[in-house]
Amino acid sequence: MAEQFDAIVIGGGHNGLVCATYLARGGRKVLVLEAAAEIGGAAITREFAPGYRVSAAAHLLHMMPEALMRELDLAKHGLSFAATDLPTVSLGASGEHVVMSNGKLSSDEADAAAYTNLVTRLKTFARLLAQTFDAPPPRLASGDRRDLWSLAKLGLKLRLLGKRDMREFLRIIGMNVHDLVEEKFTSDLLKGALGFEAVMGSATGPRTPGTVLSLLYRLTGSGFALPRGGMGAVTTALANAAKAAGVEIRVNARVARIVVEQDRASRVVLESGETIAAKSVISNADPKTTFLKLLGPEHLDTGFVRSVSHIRMRGNAAKLHLALSAAPAFAGLPSALHGSRLLIAPSLAYVEHAYNASKYEEASVAPAIELIVPSLNDDSLAPAGCHVLSAVVQFAPYGVKGGWEAEREAFTARIVDQIEAVAPGTRKLIVASELLTPPDLESQFGLGGGHWHHGEIAFDQFFMVRPVPGAAQYHTPINGLYLCGAGCHPGGGVMGLAGRNAARQVLRGAV
Ligand SMILES: Cc1cc2nc3c(=O)[nH]c(=O)nc-3n(C[C@H](O)[C@H](O)[C@H](O)COP(=O)(O)OP(=O)(O)OC[C@H]3O[C@@H](n4cnc5c(N)ncnc54)[C@H](O)[C@@H]3O)c2cc1C
Repeated sequence: MAEQFDAIVIGGGHNGLVCATYLARGGRKVLVLEAAAEIGGAAITREFAPGYRVSAAAHLLHMMPEALMRELDLAKHGLSFAATDLPTVSLGASGEHVVMSNGKLSSDEADAAAYTNLVTRLKTFARLLAQTFDAPPPRLASGDRRDLWSLAKLGLKLRLLGKRDMREFLRIIGMNVHDLVEEKFTSDLLKGALGFEAVMGSATGPRTPGTVLSLLYRLTGSGFALPRGGMGAVTTALANAAKAAGVEIRVNARVARIVVEQDRASRVVLESGETIAAKSVISNADPKTTFLKLLGPEHLDTGFVRSVSHIRMRGNAAKLHLALSAAPAFAGLPSALHGSRLLIAPSLAYVEHAYNASKYEEASVAPAIELIVPSLNDDSLAPAGCHVLSAVVQFAPYGVKGGWEAEREAFTARIVDQIEAVAPGTRKLIVASELLTPPDLESQFGLGGGHWHHGEIAFDQFFMVRPVPGAAQYHTPINGLYLCGAGCHPGGGVMGLAGRNAARQVLRGAV
């Protein structure tokens, strides 16, 4: 069969689109095959009730580097913002609250100086981490001078932090976030918020070792922003950039199989039976799906298959969308802050208890919640005078005891109870609601395990061993087959760096 394309990208999530654009700009003929009816993966906007639209999974843009947005000309391709640098507000049930904005606390004088100190220091460490995000991680024990140089540079950067900061970095990096924030602060609202921040998107609680790493990971991002029109506006702009570079994008084109011939990925077979050949195949699907379903373990050695099977990627975050007939009124919160990023995580113990349930396959009794009312900043999302509320809810284990269909209504009611406690009267405003559990996120957006990052962000699944040794530099044991999604370094969040790094590897011809 004649080779029609230089590269096929399986999946039109944001990383697949970024990867495709860089490949096309590098002179390659590229085809993106997306299984769903629209591109975007977990970064889309969709109508969930007549007239009410919401960012269906990811709802805040904070991890995509500005340089990447500029390089891809996303503003020219239609991306604009309804709000940037949203403050984060930790809400208490009696109207008390703590506001965090640009590294400062605007309430709770007692903790203000300690907060600025900690955030400044953590941001320094996060910058160190972020410097590794922009390139493939070095290979372990490869003997290659480039890998050695890359490791040496990392050691040097650590050393250049200075003795005091380097020691502090080494002291805290393996710690749990609970112990770190307990050391520093008195306010339960502040401690709860930081504890929740560290475990967002993960199956961990604040006392889980390694949660300082996941906090630093989140701090590599910048201010929380609301793309105008929701997160779908980001992936629409990315798709426009891809098309402008010459990429062909097909939707409703689910890949069923990656075919290997003469030790090389040579073509893909769609569910429809159509076969398309290419010199390289790059998968935006998660690593388990890519290796175990699309490729098939028969092409891989048993040790590699075992490592892939062991990737921890069972989602523990749900999404609740509420269509509201009017704006919710948050008790005790000045109205200027109602459009902020609001957290219901009033103490470390609250978040830990919420997590504990999920260890035993139960959804939290009192879940921790990140909520926004994006229509307060962007009136394109709801009918005039009406609003949408979008909430990330933890913890909601992928496999809940008794099954999600039995649990869905009760869990929704418990989430609404928590929202009602900080915004009395909200329940009466609900016109429609939608709860997306991890299995829903998996089936509707192709997120394997419904997991935020296509695999936990944890020491055993990070940097040089993400997703697994042997595939951590975007190329895989199969010549011509690459990965480009959140399951690779540096991980998930709408960031685009996995896509860009993967494209660079394909362009260099790394196999
Ligand atoms: C509840 C929730 C809330 C989140 N909130 C935020 C947030 O506020 N901010 C943030 O930055 N991040 C957030 N995230 C994380 C973020 O959404 C993901 O990490 C990110 O979207 C992953 O992007 P990706 O392009 O790597 O993969 P995906 O978005 O998962 O895209 C993969 C694509 O591949 C396609 N695909 C899979 N298999 C095939 C196949 N066989 N054939 C063809 N196509 C296929 C899928 O349909 C999908 O379109 C959230 C995640 C969840 C679950």
